[in-house]
Amino acid sequence: MIPPLPHIAAMSPYALADLGGPRTVSLAQNESAFAPSPAAVAAAQAAQANLALYPDPDWSDLRAAIADVHRVDPARILCGAGSMELIGCLIHAYAGPESSVLGTEFGYAFARTAAAQARAEYHAAPEAELTVSVDNILSAMRPDTRIVFLCNPGNPTGTLIPNSEILRLRNALPGTVLLVVDQAYAEFSDALEPPSEIFALAERGDTVILRTFSKAYGLAGARAGWGYFPPDVAGQVRKLLNPNNIAAASQAAAAAAMRDQDHMRGTVARTAEIRDRFAAQMRVLGLEVPAAHTNFVLLRFASAEVARRADAALRAEHLLMRGMGGYGLPDCLRATICAGQIMDRAHDVLKGVQR
Ligand SMILES: *Cc1c(COP(=O)(O)O)cnc(C)c1O
Repeated sequence: MIPPLPHIAAMSPYALADLGGPRTVSLAQNESAFAPSPAAVAAAQAAQANLALYPDPDWSDLRAAIADVHRVDPARILCGAGSMELIGCLIHAYAGPESSVLGTEFGYAFARTAAAQARAEYHAAPEAELTVSVDNILSAMRPDTRIVFLCNPGNPTGTLIPNSEILRLRNALPGTVLLVVDQAYAEFSDALEPPSEIFALAERGDTVILRTFSKAYGLAGARAGWGYFPPDVAGQVRKLLNPNNIAAASQAAAAAAMRDQDHMRGTVARTAEIRDRFAAQMRVLGLEVPAAHTNFVLLRFASAEVARRADAALRAEHLLMRGMGGYGLPDCLRATICAGQIMDRAHDVLKGVQR
């Protein structure tokens, strides 16, 4: 056997969702319940005519589309093969063996994986009632903390903290600590918390904002994410990105999806309506469901045993939610919002379990 590097050997593989069998309906990966903009599909198809060519390494058209919609500087945008690629590169650029990454108790699991790849320690600040606590983040800071990684709205909790709390965090952190605000679900909360306040943080030079096309835009299969960066952070991260990282069809789809804000807003509104009805039904069944600002809800059962029974009953009906044991929430399942009829099926199953 060829021995791998010890820190790689010590890692467990990143735990993606169990995808079930061919008849399974997945409520496990937070994919969109609705198809992407027809303009995005058409743009991807048209781009396939040029498969012999490498894609645009600078994502010029995609960056222009993002800059236009969000009224930000295109020069500060980097695009990744999903925002996961940007998370990985940020952590590799700024954290390593002598430093640590601070996330939050129920924060995005991939940040922990990326820290292990970079041989950085990873710590998590406790949350309060399934919601990020800025005070707890500040108390958990260590002398070697190089990156604070915050997901808002949160995954897997779905909860939201106001922009004012993120600004308070930033102002209280040392300027030598990079704050990464992962806003993978922010399209679901932009109407409540103006995105411009958060994008403006990149002007400070010490904060990065990440977004994705995988959730509200319905393009998880395209692998396209983006971030708003201070110029010198962008320069460092750029060195670590895979050149030509996003396929031409995916860039075209993402740009067209960004230009079709009406379609995205329609997806957000329809998803929120199904979500809120499902959450209300779950509360009637006696489950605890934190207020969600995402395309999923967290369902908290009376115990880990009841959650296991619910999971088994759902699987028997070919419905698959995401187990939360890995997040220290074995009494919870996370349910991606799907079409109304699928949520009705899930409701029927859980009614049987809770009876
Ligand atoms: C889905 C998700 C992402 C982004 O995933 P990509 O598909 O790689 O863009 C990032 N952070 C969180 C918290 C997510 O849930």
